[in-house]
Amino acid sequence: PTLPYDDANIFAKILRGEIPCSKVYEDEWALAFHDINPQAPTHILVIPKGRYVSWDDFSASGSAEEITGFVRAVGAVARAAGHVEPGYRLLANIGMDAHQEVPHLHVHLFAGKPLGPMLA
Ligand code: 5GP
Repeated sequence: PTLPYDDANIFAKILRGEIPCSKVYEDEWALAFHDINPQAPTHILVIPKGRYVSWDDFSASGSAEEITGFVRAVGAVARAAGHVEPGYRLLANIGMDAHQEVPHLHVHLFAGKPLGPMLA
């Protein structure tokens, strides 16, 4: 793992219910809520419930159930939000060069308008 997991991070507090969130989906493996600073008409964050900082950490250390559960949850959120058509964008910022701000793995789901080309 790049960084040790910090239980004081903001998404850990949201998972523990210490900070409120605008929840859109929850199951055994994942929680999804609206981003506090939306960059698109729909901007949802989907996080696994386990203590993972990065994709590489999660994919290497997560159980098959956790990984399957999380991947399914992302798809369920896209369906529930009504964005299967005309489409949506998934993005994960991992680490310093990608400006990951919160050290708990999260996938951004953007939708609700034509999003334009992906910019690196
Ligand atoms: P990152 O840059 O780590 O990929 O994105 C972190 C995201 O978390 C940002 O889009 C930011 O707006 C969002 N965020 C940060 N703090 C909070 C919070 O307390 N609640 C919610 N709902 N979103 C947050």
